[in-house]
Amino acid sequence: MTRARCIALIAHDQKKDDMADFAGRHQAQLTGVRIVATGTTGGRIKDACPDLDVTRLKSGPLGGDQQIGALIATGEVDMLIFLVDPLTSMPHDVDVKALMRLATVYDIPMALNLATAEILLASALG
Ligand code: PGA
Repeated sequence: MTRARCIALIAHDQKKDDMADFAGRHQAQLTGVRIVATGTTGGRIKDACPDLDVTRLKSGPLGGDQQIGALIATGEVDMLIFLVDPLTSMPHDVDVKALMRLATVYDIPMALNLATAEILLASALG
């Protein structure tokens, strides 16, 4: 896999602690990579790792997932790590599905859980 220049990071509420831990553990690998994130997720990553290059978009339910989908469609995102909560229904479920659809259409590496996120990051930035 070619080295990722821009990674999109999103985590549903029950997965935000996992995402903050993930970013903290991989801070060295993520240094120099542009990170785009939905609003609340991006805030948690910034708190955990103030030195990372994090662009915070809108919160997911307010359009942030769609903003990331648009960045995928314009070729600006090389990888999507989206820690989803499969046990809670979301008001913006259609946006979540649309984002996964675009990541599939544009064939970018996409992780939906932590185990796959670890493998993708090791493969792209290891
Ligand atoms: P958030 O959005 O990071 O702003 O909470 C994530 C989501 O629920 O899609």
